[in-house]
Amino acid sequence: MNRPKVLIILAIVLVVGFVTTSFFSYHVSKQAIHKTIVDNELPLTADNIYSEIQKDLVRPVFISSMMASDTFLRDWVIEGEQGTEKISKYLQQVQTTYGAFVSFLVTERTHNYYYGEGILKQVKQDEPRDAWYFRVRDLSQPYEINVDKDLAHHDELTIFVNYRVLDYSNRFIGTVGIGLNVDSVQKLIASYQKKYQRDVYFVSHDGTIMLSGSQRHAAGKNIKDVDGMNSLPAEIIDQPITQTSAETTREYEYEYEDHHANHLINVRYIPELKWYLFVEKSETQAISGIKNTFILNLLVCLAVTLIVVAITDIALKRYQQRLEVMATTDILTGLPNRRAFDIVIEVMSNDTARSGGTIAILVLDIDHFKAINDQYGHIGGDYVLTEAASIIKSSLRAADFICRWGGEEFLVVVRDCDEHNIIALAEKVRKSIEHHTTTYQNQTIALTVSIGAAIGKPSETLENLVVRADKAMYQAKKQGRNRSILS
Ligand code: GH3
Ligand code: MG
Ligand code: MG
Repeated sequence: MNRPKVLIILAIVLVVGFVTTSFFSYHVSKQAIHKTIVDNELPLTADNIYSEIQKDLVRPVFISSMMASDTFLRDWVIEGEQGTEKISKYLQQVQTTYGAFVSFLVTERTHNYYYGEGILKQVKQDEPRDAWYFRVRDLSQPYEINVDKDLAHHDELTIFVNYRVLDYSNRFIGTVGIGLNVDSVQKLIASYQKKYQRDVYFVSHDGTIMLSGSQRHAAGKNIKDVDGMNSLPAEIIDQPITQTSAETTREYEYEYEDHHANHLINVRYIPELKWYLFVEKSETQAISGIKNTFILNLLVCLAVTLIVVAITDIALKRYQQRLEVMATTDILTGLPNRRAFDIVIEVMSNDTARSGGTIAILVLDIDHFKAINDQYGHIGGDYVLTEAASIIKSSLRAADFICRWGGEEFLVVVRDCDEHNIIALAEKVRKSIEHHTTTYQNQTIALTVSIGAAIGKPSETLENLVVRADKAMYQAKKQGRNRSILS
């Protein structure tokens, strides 16, 4: 397997491993966040808001019940509603004492609507806005809570407690009560909105948003007109109302997507207000943190992968280079070996073929090397070989190539040499060895070489050229050694 392949496989393994674990942990975190929002955050917010509303309604119901059983009020009605200012004063008093938004009395005999400042109007059976009065008249319970617009206060949305007033024989003589504006609920919604980035809004049974703290769900809009919400099932606000009263507090979970985010919602019916409470949270926003972590994770993984691949590349390259050097170098002399010759000669042959030059070869063999080995031992022989190698090398030019050809044989390749020059070079090498004083263990060794030279002929094979040089070397041996012969 070559280096790029190893690196690619390594990178793939690392990237796949990193991406898989990052993606898996991102997915698990995302699911955990989703579950927390759906199972805890939204229902808890809905619970809190619902209980706050119930708490807010206890006091007005109590005040209204007190008014309905007030003897002054009942006597005043029974005695023929004499003196509007008396009842107005009474209603005014209740309003200021209990901090109500509005207090009112509608009587059955005259259908007059009394409030703090006198008579506002008369309720009429055929007037849709007055339907509440006739509904309360026929009510089996003592009171109802109704969310309506208040005529006396520029149609502001108001929570009314409508309490039935009975005479001393339990006959219905009118309806009394107070109205609270929805400020407190509105404030509660706003605080949830701000503190927990949750959209809280109330929706009437026809889908109209009645109260809201968010821009996306502005009061007055229909939820079907809110971006993305038309994908919600139609029964989202029909479902709870068809449930029995025991089930009306059940919650429903939905999710929908708009152009920016995925939204999770909790819907529950608030029977007191006959509204649906929607608590919504953007899942996309909630997971944006872990999304950033995920992206950061991937970047770190990418960086680690790149670093690991780079380090591996450097290590492999060095190792490969060392292997190459080891494979092409003779350990004893440090000269290139026969394998290096094969590589170099191919390049040289191609070069000279292209340029029309020539290749000349010298084959050098140490004379009577066996005797040196015999006399100084194998280690001594090795030392002499190293010495001979460095002497030959120092007699050559940098462009010439030398290698250890075999045991005590060396081969030199020289380019563009004529007969005169090659013999001159061979002689130069031979003499430098002969004249060099080789000492080993304080003993001087007489060292000589026999050299065979050959100049490549056009279209001659390399093998043939080497054979010719080798033969010339043997001739030199035959003729008495320590000489150079040209083939
Ligand atoms: P000549 O070439 O002059 O005919 O005689 P020679 O003694 O050199 O003959 P031959 O080529 O037969 O002997 C070469 C010897 O070199 C034989 C072998 O044991 C020895 N030799 C080969 N490689 C090494 C080596 O790496 N180290 C040592 N010390 N000796 C080696
Ligand atoms: Mg030999
Ligand atoms: Mg020899």
